[in-house]
Amino acid sequence: MVALVIAEHDNASLKAVTLNTVTAAAQCGGDVHILVAGSNCGAVAEAAAKVAGVTKVLVADAPQFADGLAENVAEQVLAVAGNYSHILAPASAHGKNVLPRVAAKLDVAQISEITKVDAPDTFERPIYAGNAIATVQSTDSVKVITVRGTGFDAAASEGGSAAVETVAAVADSGKSSFVGREVAKSDRPELTGAKVVVSGGRGMGSGDNFKILEPLADKLGAAMGASRAAVDAGYVPNDWQVGQTGKIVAPQLYIAVGISGAIQHLAGMKDSKTIVAINKDPEAPIFSVADYALVGDLFEVVPQLVEALG
Ligand SMILES: Cc1cc2nc3c(=O)[nH]c(=O)nc-3n(C[C@H](O)[C@H](O)[C@H](O)COP(=O)(O)OP(=O)(O)OC[C@H]3O[C@@H](n4cnc5c(N)ncnc54)[C@H](O)[C@@H]3O)c2cc1C
Repeated sequence: MVALVIAEHDNASLKAVTLNTVTAAAQCGGDVHILVAGSNCGAVAEAAAKVAGVTKVLVADAPQFADGLAENVAEQVLAVAGNYSHILAPASAHGKNVLPRVAAKLDVAQISEITKVDAPDTFERPIYAGNAIATVQSTDSVKVITVRGTGFDAAASEGGSAAVETVAAVADSGKSSFVGREVAKSDRPELTGAKVVVSGGRGMGSGDNFKILEPLADKLGAAMGASRAAVDAGYVPNDWQVGQTGKIVAPQLYIAVGISGAIQHLAGMKDSKTIVAINKDPEAPIFSVADYALVGDLFEVVPQLVEALG
């Protein structure tokens, strides 16, 4: 049994969620290889070769992989798929774009967003916005799996010494072309990988009011998130959204400010290690998952908290 992990990267560095995916792959029971499909992506291949537990890195380096077009990456995965019992990718926008194409072409059922490996053919995945866990057994010859990063510890990024092997790059599929990319710039940590997240909800009242969360996030080195209601109201950009239809986070500390705790929000953050909720309504459902409940007006409580943090 050999598992192949599709690396998530930007041609310069390996994204952290790849490390969580390697852990899931290792739990499938065999060797773990990583496929790096990119352009001028030597540094990524080097980083992948150092990941603990990885025995081989396949590199397909060609201009048609520069922008991660799913049509091209999926064809590259299919070109090497015959050697693998398991093919895994992070359940990110990229992984969710690539792997269904691979599963369809291999004529197997994709197993999506696993949070646990019970056996090489049996996996756990949340359903109904995380309110139930389905145990899924696959009889397909190849298991094509997306991995929820928050379900698995990251493999160590150092300590491995995998062989790096260049593989022939597939031709450009010609089915899609790269038009442009607008990247939100932030000095804060990336939301899905942050150790601390400070999120605001509709209770913030306006986009301007989110400024009162900034000193709190600064003090804690936190990423900033939001509920869907805050995003839909235009308070903050939609890449801040945490929840069922937003990002799934599981930081060491999650601070929910002016968020009621709808199940769709909880689905994205309830696995956080410590949850602090600030809400003026003592009956707010967010308190049912909170480790620390602060009942009060956020406009008074947040500045006090910032002051107390020194
Ligand atoms: C299919 C579907 C998918 C969805 N996906 C998501 C998702 O991914 N993420 C998500 O978040 N939601 C999602 N939702 C929406 C979700 O159901 C809720 O509507 C949303 O989470 C509510 O956001 P909120 O808690 O900010 O707002 P509200 O529910 O309006 O809560 C605001 C809270 O702020 C408190 N508050 C107000 N003023 C203050 C103050 N001054 N001080 C302290 N507290 C105050 C109130 O007591 C209240 O609890 C989804 C819904 C559907 C149907």
